[in-house]
Amino acid sequence: MTKSELNEYRNALETKHAELVHLVRNRDGIAIQTSPDALDEVRHATERELAIRSLDRDSNLLRSVRAALRRNEDGSFGVCLHCEEDISAKRLAAVPWTPFCIHCQEIADRCQGNGAGDVEFLFNAA
Ligand SMILES: [Zn+2]
Repeated sequence: MTKSELNEYRNALETKHAELVHLVRNRDGIAIQTSPDALDEVRHATERELAIRSLDRDSNLLRSVRAALRRNEDGSFGVCLHCEEDISAKRLAAVPWTPFCIHCQEIADRCQGNGAGDVEFLFNAA
């Protein structure tokens, strides 16, 4: 990968990073509300659940973006963390923070579908 390609990816990552930091910091939907109305209670619980889930997702993404920025610095950017093959340019253009090539991502997605949780952790533990 050339220096200018790396710079381009770094710019994309930094933009995404700023966006996510803003999102995660400005989350206010997780306050616990109580209501004497049982139906309201259910609705609040659902809203809270959704807010927590999206915060979870954004925090995970933020972690991935940070890790990708670190890889961009240390020269390992663009290499799959799992199989160490180069990640395709097309994939990097679409998701510059991806730690995995398309094949390993498919495996990861299947594991996540099974409720295995944090995929990087999963691979590191394997
Ligand atoms: Zn791979």
